[in-house]
Amino acid sequence: MAAQILVVEDEPAIQELIAVNLVRAGHHVLRAADAETAQGLVRTALPDLILLDWMLPGMSGIDLARRLRSEPRTREVPIIMLTARGEERDKIAGLETGADDYITKPFSPRELLARITAVLRRRAPQATEDAVEAGGLRLDPAAHRVTAAGSEVALGPTEFRLLHFLMTHAERVHSRAQLLDQVWGDHVFVEERTVDVHIRRLRAALEASGRDALVQTVRGSGYRFSAGAQ
Ligand code: CA
Repeated sequence: MAAQILVVEDEPAIQELIAVNLVRAGHHVLRAADAETAQGLVRTALPDLILLDWMLPGMSGIDLARRLRSEPRTREVPIIMLTARGEERDKIAGLETGADDYITKPFSPRELLARITAVLRRRAPQATEDAVEAGGLRLDPAAHRVTAAGSEVALGPTEFRLLHFLMTHAERVHSRAQLLDQVWGDHVFVEERTVDVHIRRLRAALEASGRDALVQTVRGSGYRFSAGAQ
């Protein structure tokens, strides 16, 4: 599944090289040449992963990583730091800010893509094509199919993404604002009751297989997928 990846890199040739390779691998790419622009983009829509250059004009990559980690909304966005430095103490400093991984320039496109896949698997499984099974449901992103005990569950594209996110983050409560950020990629212009509408549709689609109770309402907080709630 295509991930939304924000590339923050001030050297145009490197930014271009990275973007071309990510697009070729099927990802969606947003670009920023400085930390301030990146912050503006993140404010509008939460990316699935950020590739963040260490040395940037103005605010450094390290400072941006620190800021993202200090805010509840952006705390869990996966970050891979890019740097020309290869020194061990710099690597440690980068990881101390909360970066998930670290790549030293120059790197091969293949290495970059492998690192991205590894970090997404660990930190944003809803942005990968890995099939997920829970509560008697099987969701296969590559085939865009959901099955319950072998029979297919027909879902609209939004319900599919919503279920994918909930299943890959099971047993945790997600607020409507978080779901808008994660599933719709828009917490600014889409109203929170839109989430309720799609949760209802999702439950209706799961009803025939008796799996609708897997999607729970947590009063005053939001929604949760609980595999033990059949
Ligand atoms: Ca740079």
